[in-house]
Amino acid sequence: MTHAAEKLNIITSFSILADITKAIGGDAIDVTSLVEPDADVHHFEPRPQDIKNLLEADLVIVNSLGFEPWLDRVKPTTKKTPLWVVASDGVTPLPFDHHDHANHNASEGEAVDPHAWQNVKNARLYAKNMVTALINSDPTHRALYLENLARYDRELERLDQEIRNAIEAIPSSKRKIVTSHDAFGYFEKAYGLKMFAPLGVGREAQPSAKDMAQVIRQIYNDAIPAIFLETAIDTRLAEQLASETEVKIGGTLYADTLSQKNCPAGTYITMMETNIKTLTNALDP
Ligand SMILES: [Zn+2]
Repeated sequence: MTHAAEKLNIITSFSILADITKAIGGDAIDVTSLVEPDADVHHFEPRPQDIKNLLEADLVIVNSLGFEPWLDRVKPTTKKTPLWVVASDGVTPLPFDHHDHANHNASEGEAVDPHAWQNVKNARLYAKNMVTALINSDPTHRALYLENLARYDRELERLDQEIRNAIEAIPSSKRKIVTSHDAFGYFEKAYGLKMFAPLGVGREAQPSAKDMAQVIRQIYNDAIPAIFLETAIDTRLAEQLASETEVKIGGTLYADTLSQKNCPAGTYITMMETNIKTLTNALDP
């Protein structure tokens, strides 16, 4: 911060981090997300203006875990490096190929699944990491940040329980779905809803024929009751799966991005609640 009266200028890589940061920082900070809501984070290309904004930021908050490969190209160009904060610090990462997809070869063996925020316990960790970073950069607002964290953490704790209750209410034989890309591994592990996807965690452009065949087999063998679309992903793949297997489309899930502010998934909490409503409506109508 240049002057004590100025707000902390924070840039986050994607919209979910911006929302959690705002919940903690309130009016004491200005936060902008590089990747805007409803946009594709996996295949983002930073524009010259983004790099300029990064240079001027006090803090840059990133997910890491391999979620933002494009940041590696941006980071070395910054001379006055802003403070780089890894929101996922301390998360127990899931292996990249938790579904044993055929396209995950040995060279990817050490990669991890970046979508840690799909377990609310991890989001609580994100919030704590952000508070530490905010207090370090702006100790004058320490009390405000801690107060906001306490309130937000209670909301997240309630959200975690709400998701648990909602999944438990779905008949156990129906707790399995297909989505577009493998973004829900943490959700699956935390809340016990099995999720399969033709696209991997890194969201390649097209699934291999082998992966498509494997998912179709899975749909028949496990009698998967519904296939879900995802925001910011071409819907044709899921629609093709649905028509080939005659399984219904259950709705649209939010994986990697919030929606614009006036839409139902404008915050991390409402995003998770919207997903739960969509799942419940389709699986336990
Ligand atoms: Zn993703």
